[in-house]
Amino acid sequence: MDCVSPHVATPKQGAYRLDWLPPWSSERVRVIAWTCYCRDTIYELCYASSRAFIRRTTTQTRTEVHETYPLALHEAGAIWVSLITGQML
Ligand SMILES: [Zn+2]
Repeated sequence: MDCVSPHVATPKQGAYRLDWLPPWSSERVRVIAWTCYCRDTIYELCYASSRAFIRRTTTQTRTEVHETYPLALHEAGAIWVSLITGQML
């Protein structure tokens, strides 16, 4: 498999834990960025109704989906970078 999307770094010690909620978003969601699908856990930066959030999908034993609270796009973008660089989980 050719990896073209970013991989999430191993979380650093003391990484900030995000609040992961049961999925709340509707279907009218635009996915702006995503991490590589070769991993068991993928993250998507989503945008809907002028709010952004991050969706986490885990497929280790069964598919589990969680989403963050809706945020302003610049906030979600900052969290996205922190997630990918292992500063949040
Ligand atoms: Zn990959």
